[in-house]
Amino acid sequence: MTSSLVVGVVMFLGASSSGATSVPASVVIATSRGEHVVPVALHEGHPSLSVPALSRYLPITDRIEGDWAVVAFGGEPFRFLLEAPVLMHGPRMIPLVGGAYLVRDTLYVPLQWLAELVPQVFTEGYRYDPRSARFEEAGLPRLANASAATRAAFEPASARGREAGLRMAHRVVIDPGHGGVDPGNPGRYLPRGVKEKHVTLSIGQLLRTELERRGVDVVMTRSTDTLINLEHRARFCRDGCDLFVSVHVNSMPRRTGYERVSGFETYFLGEALTAEAQRVAQMENEALRYETGSAIGANDALTFIFKDLQTNEILRESALLADVVQTHGASVHPGGDRGISQNRFVVLATATRPAILVETGFATNRRDGEFLASTSGQRRLAQAIANGIVVYLKRYEQKVLIGMEP
Ligand SMILES: [Zn+2]
Repeated sequence: MTSSLVVGVVMFLGASSSGATSVPASVVIATSRGEHVVPVALHEGHPSLSVPALSRYLPITDRIEGDWAVVAFGGEPFRFLLEAPVLMHGPRMIPLVGGAYLVRDTLYVPLQWLAELVPQVFTEGYRYDPRSARFEEAGLPRLANASAATRAAFEPASARGREAGLRMAHRVVIDPGHGGVDPGNPGRYLPRGVKEKHVTLSIGQLLRTELERRGVDVVMTRSTDTLINLEHRARFCRDGCDLFVSVHVNSMPRRTGYERVSGFETYFLGEALTAEAQRVAQMENEALRYETGSAIGANDALTFIFKDLQTNEILRESALLADVVQTHGASVHPGGDRGISQNRFVVLATATRPAILVETGFATNRRDGEFLASTSGQRRLAQAIANGIVVYLKRYEQKVLIGMEP
């Protein structure tokens, strides 16, 4: 979600915003290679576009020269004076409504440049339709649909997603625990022949239905009774994936009163692993003391710090996700609220996205077992977990959309 989503401030001003010129939330770039959506960012009220996003689909290159950003379209240079509403095209000085600007290393240019100037310069090659916010190659055969295979960095939510209050498209990986030769826990109070692996698959499939109903894309690590390596499961959640949820059923070892333990709990990756990551980074950075004057060494140091920050960011997000899923899951559970915890789960250790593991209840507790084995119980849990995930995604969207404001 983070690295692939440098979106700036995206506004969702519909045509309804009274009187004011409506600003599109995104622009469609249509070329012979397909249709792609690029989000519109607002800078001091002016619609702007990320140059790296555009250059994925259009023949655009850019470089910074002092106070100037030189953006070449098809080799034709346009010189923007940074943070000033003006550009130079050859000897021509052209006033703009807003200026080009940098957010960290990302250059943004006014939408006006792509919408008005580029089509003026390349009259035969490109046109822009302000009604549909569509920039297209001239002479292009009408393309039926944007290619789903090439998801843009930003994609607005589907109609279902918008109904659920989401503004962006999301994908979640659901991991039903165990499978195949690994039955998971035997399930003392599950019906005869039913094991943890069956319950996790049922809940996982119901969760898929509930998330899809809320406009969220779902990928399953398994949808049949098969075994997937623990380290491979989190790999299903990489580019274009927002979060990872592993579903399990808990069980207590036999000891006095063990059947009384019940309830719902959510885990995210343990502190211990973070401490280990910090120790390794520190150790590696320490070695750089012997490499004074080495530019490569200095870069490595930054890479380590960045990786560490990134890991912490993922853990912070995982904690937020765990918290909201726990609150929702526990609210429908007969066995009570066991809260969130950290642990060193292998299945979560390889995650590059926020990842949680839910223990949906205890198969060693009669009431939990009956609840988990029943279709109604499974459905209520799936609905609650889906609601929690959507609440998390909405909060995440707020951060991405507003937090990127320069
Ligand atoms: Zn399990």
